[in-house]
Amino acid sequence: MLDCLPETVEPVGLADAGRSFRGEIAIAAFARLRPLLADTEGGLRVALVFRRDERRLRVLTGRIEGRLNLICQRCLQALEFPLQLEFSLGIVASEAEIDRLPQGYEPLLANGELLRTAEVIEDEILLLIPAVPMHAGESRCESGYRNRPAQEKDNPFSILEKLKT
Ligand SMILES: [Zn+2]
Repeated sequence: MLDCLPETVEPVGLADAGRSFRGEIAIAAFARLRPLLADTEGGLRVALVFRRDERRLRVLTGRIEGRLNLICQRCLQALEFPLQLEFSLGIVASEAEIDRLPQGYEPLLANGELLRTAEVIEDEILLLIPAVPMHAGESRCESGYRNRPAQEKDNPFSILEKLKT
């Protein structure tokens, strides 16, 4: 296993060649995740294995480990969210192939083009984190939150706008 994550991957060729990688990705690299986080310090450990399974299906299995600081939607303070997730993706070239994937595989649409590694990983994280993260009980929230005016949450698209200009 190569101890280095490529910035981009070409899933079809990598699965045929049976390549695997591991390394660390800076949390700041996840553009869509950033607005949901209290801070973007540190990184996540990632391992990716591209291969053909026993049915000759091209698959990507992976593991993501680390910690994110989400924003509690009750007190608007940081909420530690440990990440330890594993995923199995079936690499498909078209929408039609998605229906033929065996159970247990989510589709990864790829047709020979390069995909950004961080985006593939970010997709998996976004599926996992709660839509409305909150501390486990009101008593764990930052005291005094009731007096604080409700802040408007960052709109993820406003970040995109900033990037464009
Ligand atoms: Zn809270």
